[in-house]
Amino acid sequence: MSQKIPVKIIDAREKTQAKAPEEISLYAAREKIYVKEITGLFQRLRTLSLCLLMGAYFAICWISVDGQQLVYFDLPNRQFHIFGTTFWPQDFVLLAWLLIICAFGLFFITTLFGRVWCGYTCPQTVWTFIFMWLEERIEGSRNQRMKLDKAPMSGGKLRKKFLKHLSWFAVALATGVTFVGYFYPIRELVPDLMTLTVTSGWAYFWVAFFTVATYLNAGWMREQVCLYMCPYARFQSVMFDRDTMVVSYNPTRGEPRGSRKRTEDRDQLELGDCIDCNMCVQVCPTGIDIRDGLQYECIGCALCIDACDSIMEKMNYPKGLISYTTEKNLEGDRSKILRPRTFGYGLALLIMIGAFSVKLGLRSEIELDVIRDRGALFQTSARGFVENSYTLQIMNKSDEVRTFDITVAGIEGISLSTRAQVTLEPEEALSLPTVVEVNPGNMTERNHDITFTLEMVGDDAVRTEVESRFLGPDPRR
Ligand code: SF4
Ligand code: SF4
Repeated sequence: MSQKIPVKIIDAREKTQAKAPEEISLYAAREKIYVKEITGLFQRLRTLSLCLLMGAYFAICWISVDGQQLVYFDLPNRQFHIFGTTFWPQDFVLLAWLLIICAFGLFFITTLFGRVWCGYTCPQTVWTFIFMWLEERIEGSRNQRMKLDKAPMSGGKLRKKFLKHLSWFAVALATGVTFVGYFYPIRELVPDLMTLTVTSGWAYFWVAFFTVATYLNAGWMREQVCLYMCPYARFQSVMFDRDTMVVSYNPTRGEPRGSRKRTEDRDQLELGDCIDCNMCVQVCPTGIDIRDGLQYECIGCALCIDACDSIMEKMNYPKGLISYTTEKNLEGDRSKILRPRTFGYGLALLIMIGAFSVKLGLRSEIELDVIRDRGALFQTSARGFVENSYTLQIMNKSDEVRTFDITVAGIEGISLSTRAQVTLEPEEALSLPTVVEVNPGNMTERNHDITFTLEMVGDDAVRTEVESRFLGPDPRR
């Protein structure tokens, strides 16, 4: 018996319409976050850390010791003065080490305490904090700011907005000028800017650049920088483990959440400790809800801890519904501070700091570089001697005037036919054209290794040697 199989006839037009691609916008408009100001232990710690860092940034470039700016990157003379130590181009490897040490220090701290760098010390956090503080002083509390933004334009609104942007611009300008003041003597830069007599056009450019960047980053972009631009926010989670301190909500204690009156018994209502007041969300500078679990948007500022603790206090509940804790602690296990990861980072950090200190301590106070003249292999003098030309780069890295003897050795009778003694001012670099001569009868090969020696007059312990080549005619011809 034949069986009828039901067949659904699909209209081709219907099929095409059904499959028409949906247009999805890849751009999500930013929702403005109105952060509520909060007081508490972590806010006080943050304020202290931010004031110290801002104070250091704005003050250090104004401090001079013996007429030398405490931190000054002298690009034209290729010298970096950092807290009394001068680094030369030859010392860049030391500066690179210093940066690597800072990076490992950051990894070490992150492994132990999570994103404390982001929450307490990152420049983006520091400047955003200042800008938000100004906003709160001028436009008022969170609710007042929301109301102000919704209100139609008026004289009062215009005045507040103008004052806010003016204060932001003043901070941004001070930031830009201070930044350039680490590269252009700040005591000259400020009066030169006021009289528009700055000698370098680049100084104007960088002041303008850092002013605009600060104004936009801290005033307008704020958490967007952390969420979409900062690479560190993305990769630091690889340093986290179950023993890393993070800001966490305790769902076992808090759930089921629900609003209630202060006098109502939560056990009778069968509710957890979270009263669902949303205060932790309102104080969050990145606008997230920590109750949803650990999120990459959380910068670890702990303001939600302050907010929740203040609510717990009002409700007469124990504090710590949101706290600095570890995943293990939340699960009832004990956390360890010393673990392979922290031990590894800590050991690497100690080794690098040790090696850096030794290298810094052994740094020579003089520097000699020898550049052979590539224009001519050799020339012959009037008295028949073979001559080679070099340029000696001599640096006196000390803070005293010093006189040096220059000698050369490696071939019998080799000598300098130019200056053999130089006097250099403190931290002076000298480029010295030099000619070396040899009796051709003393040359056994076309190429000889020779050694230049720079030695301080009166202290032969201060010396350095550099090898080079001396070329002449083939002695077998
Ligand atoms: S969730 Fe808490 S710790 Fe994380 S950014 Fe928001 S307020 Fe700061
Ligand atoms: S502040 Fe505390 S009580 Fe209020 S919603 Fe957040 S976690 Fe719940």
